[in-house]
Amino acid sequence: MSESSSIRLAFGFSFADLYDNSALPRLDAAFLAFVREIDAALVERLEAARRDPSALAPKAESELLIALAPHVEDFIARLFGIESELQALAAQHHELAPLYTVKRLFVQRRAVNKTRPEDIAALDPAAAEARLAAAFGVPFSELAYARAVTEWQKDEAANAALLDLAAHYAAWAVGTPQGKAKHKAGVLFKTPTKLDFMRLVPLHTDTAAGYPQHTLEDAHLRHREGFALTDQGTDLNGALDQANYCIWCHEQGKDSCSKGLREKAAKAEPGVVAPPAAFKKTVFGVTMAGCPLEEKISEFHMVKTRGQPLGALAVITVDNAMVAATGHRICNDCMKSCIYQKQEPVNIPQAETRTVKDVLELPWGFEIYSLLTRWNPLNLRRPVPRAASGSAC
Ligand code: SF4
Repeated sequence: MSESSSIRLAFGFSFADLYDNSALPRLDAAFLAFVREIDAALVERLEAARRDPSALAPKAESELLIALAPHVEDFIARLFGIESELQALAAQHHELAPLYTVKRLFVQRRAVNKTRPEDIAALDPAAAEARLAAAFGVPFSELAYARAVTEWQKDEAANAALLDLAAHYAAWAVGTPQGKAKHKAGVLFKTPTKLDFMRLVPLHTDTAAGYPQHTLEDAHLRHREGFALTDQGTDLNGALDQANYCIWCHEQGKDSCSKGLREKAAKAEPGVVAPPAAFKKTVFGVTMAGCPLEEKISEFHMVKTRGQPLGALAVITVDNAMVAATGHRICNDCMKSCIYQKQEPVNIPQAETRTVKDVLELPWGFEIYSLLTRWNPLNLRRPVPRAASGSAC
């Protein structure tokens, strides 16, 4: 037995138990007992759902998994003794939360829609930034802006002048080339662009030489040396921006990213069950069948935005144990089928990959991910591995 196998974990488990399939039912029982102490009714719902998962409507299944996610989070943190590290990671999620609320409700709804062009033209951005920073009491940053606007909106009348200034600044940052360039690394002042399917990759075309020369925009160019990965993917801020851009369509049963985007169903004859309508196709003729694994995308986005990174990974791994190999740059069938068909879709692969990276960066991160691919209490149909079949292959 190696030294690591004798490491003791909580609930009477050893490190070796995590890799012993016969110990996993005991782990599952420990989880159920852990949740029962807090919410016995939830455990009853889970046990009933496991007895007959097919009896559960998709929406009810989603709700059950989402309700269980924080308990999965707490149990795993206790098991590995990483409560403080997990709290710190959750705190990072919560700290960023004002950005996405202010982006949606103030920047997009109010500043961009209601600021007059003449107000943007009259704005001195440097002076506005300095005035806003002085009002924040800290150097200007997108997060400081979001926090301040959240506070100011609690008393609109008293803060009307500052809110107007913040709105004009936002309209400038979103709507002018200078503003876009200044905030290109952030998320707050970016709004989804309309999709032009014939120009999905933005190009510069120069005809000065008498023939068109096409070059990629700088944002799409990266220096490559050797075979090292040049695209590091998004950070937590970028992932949460996407998870908050998602409108969590599972609540309406319309999560086409997962289940595919279908044509309108034909009216069925009375008493006849109509076959499902065909999947739609993109302008390039690609079938929009959604995620090949039917991963619970909408649900993991919701859990991630609630600051539950382990819970979000547990939701993903119910359907996708290979999440470390999917996501960013591997597969985007989900994005093609996102409900947003006229504007940029939610960048699901970025959110998914960041979710697994966030867990991998925790102490015991690999072991947690690995464990969730074998024991996953959110997997109603198979929370622990099946018994060996005896087959040689
Ligand atoms: S990713 Fe798109 S289709 Fe999927 S739930 Fe979010 S908004 Fe809806």
